Amino acid sequence: MFFTDGRYEQQAGLEVQGSKVAVVRKPPLAAAGEWLAANAKKLGMKTLGIEAEHLTVAEHSRLTKALPSGLRLRAAPPLVEQARMIKDAEEIEQLRAAVLLGASLFDVILGAIRPGVKETEVAAELEYAARRAGADGMSFETIIASGSRSALPHGRASEAAIPASGFVVCDFGVILAGYCSDMTRTVRVGRAGPKMRWIYEAVREAQRTALETVRAGVSTGEVDRSARKVLHSNGLGRNFTHSTGHGVGLEIHEAPRLAAGQKDVLQPGMVITIEPGAYIPGVGGVRIEDMVVVTERGCQILTPTGKELITI
Ligand code: ZN
Ligand code: ZN
Repeated sequence: MFFTDGRYEQQAGLEVQGSKVAVVRKPPLAAAGEWLAANAKKLGMKTLGIEAEHLTVAEHSRLTKALPSGLRLRAAPPLVEQARMIKDAEEIEQLRAAVLLGASLFDVILGAIRPGVKETEVAAELEYAARRAGADGMSFETIIASGSRSALPHGRASEAAIPASGFVVCDFGVILAGYCSDMTRTVRVGRAGPKMRWIYEAVREAQRTALETVRAGVSTGEVDRSARKVLHSNGLGRNFTHSTGHGVGLEIHEAPRLAAGQKDVLQPGMVITIEPGAYIPGVGGVRIEDMVVVTERGCQILTPTGKELITI
């Protein structure tokens, strides 16, 4: 049974397959609880699997109250997440199209960045162009982080004006036909001194090394370690404060995670990001991110954009 309310009646008729649709007037979760109370016994149900990552504590307690005694709630294993890790050929083509559309917008960012312009103005130009180019929307809140804000790994575009000198981390993506793109490039406003150039090159080297490590059969933890090793040998190990990447598909963050100690093994058809970074609090940061498809012998890089340091 698929429970929904009147707003989605038509859409459910068009999209739901392999299940009956119940259009209800009360909250769908309450209706589902009542239906289970009436039918669980008849169907011999003893345990109800829930998606623990998506059910709030309040919803859990409402559902528990509605259920008949003897029917237990249990976190279901991540079956959907696991099935979605590997993309079929059609999905890879959809993702490739999303990545190419996203990457084509990098020129819009380059045209908008100059000292004195607000980060939100750069994001606005980018997002307007994305819609004009046919994107369903952005796959996450655009990150345009300039100057010392570039040291914030998740510095959403703010009212801050781009300073005359510093890095600008641009992390953005579009949704096209339901599939997400994700890329990061870091550009420089004003000439980069030797130390800043060296940080940029260390991150670029870490990203290249991680890309070279990606191959079916290699664990995600190993890919993370390869990037971390390069930054560590450059004295930037402590400045790389997040994981090396993540799966991407219908959602911006999917399994697998490429982080320290992760044991998931890469398989052909997985689409993942490779995005090491280094952040110096109060000074600035650099991140470079591509999306790739895992293959038997390595990977195919989907993101077509160059990685030389661009100075504006
Ligand atoms: Zn990103
Ligand atoms: Zn990412």
